[in-house]
Amino acid sequence: MESIYTTFLCERSKCRKESILVTEEVEDTIKKGGYISCSHCGCRNVIPIGATDDLRKCMDHAAYKKVHGAIRQVRSGWEKKGKISLWQ
Ligand SMILES: [Zn+2]
Repeated sequence: MESIYTTFLCERSKCRKESILVTEEVEDTIKKGGYISCSHCGCRNVIPIGATDDLRKCMDHAAYKKVHGAIRQVRSGWEKKGKISLWQ
């Protein structure tokens, strides 16, 4: 079961900001040949770093660790579908 939201971190050294996107929409965008970019600088070098069903949990450090366990699940799912290459 995938989480509703996925957190992306911009890899650009001057930015390093996070964007939270709806997982379903991200998958749909990629399926249609689109790409995910940083909401702050427009850079395409964003990596999925977390997933959550509750946006409020993103701010909660204790919950963040729990969310961290779900990251690999999300990422491996994308790798299986060959979508992860978009971020590399
Ligand atoms: Zn950025």
